[in-house]
Amino acid sequence: MKLGIVGLPNVGKSTLFNSLTKAGAESANYPFCTIDPNVGVVPVPDFRLKLLSDLYNSEKITPAVIEFVDIAGLVKGASKGEGLGNQFLANIREVDAIVHVVRCFEDPNVIHVDGSVDPLRDIETINLELIFSDIEVIDRRIAKMGKGAASNKALAKELNILKAVKEHLENGNLAKSFECEDDEEQAFVASLDLLTWKPVIFAANVGEDDLADDGASNPHVQAVRKFASENDSEVFVVCAQIEEEISELDDDEKKMFLDDLGLKESGLDKLIAASYRLLGLISYLTAGEKETRAWTIKVGTKAPQAAGKIHTDFERGFIKAEVVNYKDLLDCGSYNGAKEKGLVRMEGKDYVMKDGDVVLFRFNV
Ligand code: GDP
Repeated sequence: MKLGIVGLPNVGKSTLFNSLTKAGAESANYPFCTIDPNVGVVPVPDFRLKLLSDLYNSEKITPAVIEFVDIAGLVKGASKGEGLGNQFLANIREVDAIVHVVRCFEDPNVIHVDGSVDPLRDIETINLELIFSDIEVIDRRIAKMGKGAASNKALAKELNILKAVKEHLENGNLAKSFECEDDEEQAFVASLDLLTWKPVIFAANVGEDDLADDGASNPHVQAVRKFASENDSEVFVVCAQIEEEISELDDDEKKMFLDDLGLKESGLDKLIAASYRLLGLISYLTAGEKETRAWTIKVGTKAPQAAGKIHTDFERGFIKAEVVNYKDLLDCGSYNGAKEKGLVRMEGKDYVMKDGDVVLFRFNV
């Protein structure tokens, strides 16, 4: 999973990005690689991994990971070449979801590019740039079709959809609110990789004082929450500055620090939970002496496709899956114990995977 962090300058993107990637790197002791200063690979915290790895005496733990991309340079006029220009918009095309950081904190020492704190105006500014960029993509696509649509029914249909989506965008709407007539149309619009088609999580960046009630009494946060619920998006409330401090701490210190603030989880934990919810993701697990590992799949994924995450051969040669819920397995103290109690099930190719399944795939090579 890849998440792109966007937002106007000075809203706290880099602070958040740095704290997330640093916290992630330290909390799971993951061999953290920096591909690029703007890309951070963060393990998905999963308490089940350690428990299973202890049970199996695993040599290593491999968590699921999320890649964060810090997409700086999105300013008013970016789609017209202002700031870093249009080039970086290409970076956003590759992500699964967008984390849109909005400033909800007041601080006279931090200048706002538009003079005042107003998250809805900021959201609109960024959305307009994304919309402009999407219109360009559609225009290019239409131009590429040339005269082909005149003599080809399928192309003519596509052209009509493109025109309708373009009109929708030109009216200031996001692509994801475009109402598709059927699955085929939906698949076609999805294939365009439009920026405003992507799921969005708003990171409402608040001051420290707003953390205890999760931003409930901050009117800026209220406005963002309302906007998000009307636009099928998630919100998570975070104080980037505090996250930066938390990212310096080890696990015990972190817990004490969060307790002091009256919080249960860090911003990273909240963001990961929000993105899993928004993208409809769950994890299944594999465990053994060599490795205990988490695998991310979409809700509704069937056993063979889940096996295909590990290796395409597993999917092709799928015979069956031996499945046990992680909790049952831990309660029984061993795989054989769980088997004796009848808690290990044999599942076939139509089995729909569940979060927390511990799986052993049987397959032909
Ligand atoms: P970016 O341009 O969006 O990447 O913003 P930065 O992360 O560089 O932050 C801009 C400024 O705002 C920096 O001086 C940060 O220290 C400050 N800042 C970031 N988050 C917070 C916050 O939660 N509260 C306050 N008061 N300042 C913050």
